[in-house]
Amino acid sequence: MAGQACTRCGNPAESRSYLCGPCTTSLEVALARVPDLLGDLEVALMKQARITDAGRRSAGAEQPLPLHLGAAEALAGLNAVIRRALVLAMAGGRPPVALSAANEARWLREHVRLLARSPEAGEHVEAIVAAVAGAVALIDRPEPLAYFGVCWGWFAGAERAEQCVAELYAPASAGVVTCAVCGTQHDTARRKAWLLEQAEDQFTYASQLAQAISALGAEVSSARIRKWAERGRIISYGRDQRGRPLYRVGDVLDALQAELTKPEKSA
Ligand SMILES: [Zn+2]
Ligand SMILES: [Zn+2]
Repeated sequence: MAGQACTRCGNPAESRSYLCGPCTTSLEVALARVPDLLGDLEVALMKQARITDAGRRSAGAEQPLPLHLGAAEALAGLNAVIRRALVLAMAGGRPPVALSAANEARWLREHVRLLARSPEAGEHVEAIVAAVAGAVALIDRPEPLAYFGVCWGWFAGAERAEQCVAELYAPASAGVVTCAVCGTQHDTARRKAWLLEQAEDQFTYASQLAQAISALGAEVSSARIRKWAERGRIISYGRDQRGRPLYRVGDVLDALQAELTKPEKSA
């Protein structure tokens, strides 16, 4: 293969290879990241399920929620490009044993020369490098989440239809938010409009209110909401099934606004 060009970048390839030295290195570097990335993407998916399952955000020192609607796609894409490259490296044959995706990447990394002997190597390097870069971007810079309200979707309960009280969070740019508890799909644009319309006259309990308002960017704790109620600055409108007092969102927003525009006063 003397004088062979790299099928990825066109520079002179290494001997007996369709890849140049730098492209071979790019491939090795990308493959080296795959096992950890697969793990990170799986963690992101699990957190997504757990968070939505609990229907609330966990308080505490956790970072912004790594909820990725794209994590499943990134995971599948990464698995697919690795698998295709592996099949090519095996010259169209099947891998000797069923390897985990992480081990497929490790095996490929140790056998890049098998991939490099195919003229299609350039395409595969490009696909792997792009899939790895996409996954890294997803893990490193999760899109901030927007709050899309309580699901209120219907699902079949044990005795009768029940309404879903899971709270919906999704990247702000998502077009659709799917409730992980009941599976209802919500159009985010309509949800936003509905939230704005309904927010003022919605009634909910203190911790959910605190969460909803905080998600909109204003900090208020549930303890503070209860304090306002104790002092009569807001009133409760009955209780929910679990006995939690219900407050009107608009009242709480008014109280918050009043506090923000008033000079500091000792509690
Ligand atoms: Zn190259
Ligand atoms: Zn739901």
